[in-house]
Amino acid sequence: VEPSDPVALSERKWRQQNNRIIIIVLAIGMALVGIILSARMVTRELETARMKTDFAANVSHELRSPITQIRLKGEALQLDLVFSDEDRREHYDAIVRESERLSRLVDNVLDFAAIERGAKRYTFRPVDIGETVHSAVDAARFSMELRGMEIELDLSDTLPVVFHDPEAVSQVLHNLISNAAKYGRDGGWIGVTGEMTPEHGVQIAISDRGIGIGPEDHARIFEEYYRSNDPRARRQKGTGIGLTIVRYIMEAHGGTIDVKSAIGQGTTFTLNFPLKPPDAVGT
Ligand code: ADP
Repeated sequence: VEPSDPVALSERKWRQQNNRIIIIVLAIGMALVGIILSARMVTRELETARMKTDFAANVSHELRSPITQIRLKGEALQLDLVFSDEDRREHYDAIVRESERLSRLVDNVLDFAAIERGAKRYTFRPVDIGETVHSAVDAARFSMELRGMEIELDLSDTLPVVFHDPEAVSQVLHNLISNAAKYGRDGGWIGVTGEMTPEHGVQIAISDRGIGIGPEDHARIFEEYYRSNDPRARRQKGTGIGLTIVRYIMEAHGGTIDVKSAIGQGTTFTLNFPLKPPDAVGT
């Protein structure tokens, strides 16, 4: 038996062989892509698991310091170990200060949990944004001065009424100001400015002259649990959720947050609030 067209037959054989090679190469390629994607996912999951474990340890660590302070000062008063009125006053002040720190930390953790569950609600009201910034800075001023830091406020007289949730915006300012104090301590100065711009609406900026943030971290610092690996930043205690809450609150207000920073040159976070009422996120 002989093939009627041997050339066509060998061409078909050649094509079939080629097809088989292509299928094998494609299968190997797909398997490789699968392996790489799975490895990436596993690495990411492991990183998230590590960050969550660190978070639990960091929260416990942060809770311990104010609790210890409150107990020590309270015991000293209870055992009458404080002799002058001035000392007594200092002990009461420290107890109030540390309790406030404790409740802000707990607020941050509870808010973060509510944000993660999608259960956080804000109430937007037409309020003078200048007043909200003013009272948040005044509330922070005392503890900043105790830490030897100067806080300078420069608000334009023409700041308009902005639809916002004043408690939530105060929390944003508190988180940014306490970060400026933590990571900007060497600079000894925190600046808060507020102005109205035609392109971005109301802009509130919080600046420090501290350690700064490297470009590789600019986007990541807003991720949940993320803390920079810079050893100078790691020297400070933290939980890695402060900026996540800030970003979430700004998004809920229909606004944005930008960061400008370079290592060793200080940092400026700018909040942009639109003048239009935000879409009623949980109003
Ligand atoms: P943390 O509790 O660690 O401060 P945040 O979410 O508030 O968590 O900040 C995330 C990271 O961003 C910090 O760990 C720090 O590395 C960096 N960061 C935030 N604010 C500043 C700042 N003003 N200067 C330098 N680094 C900052």
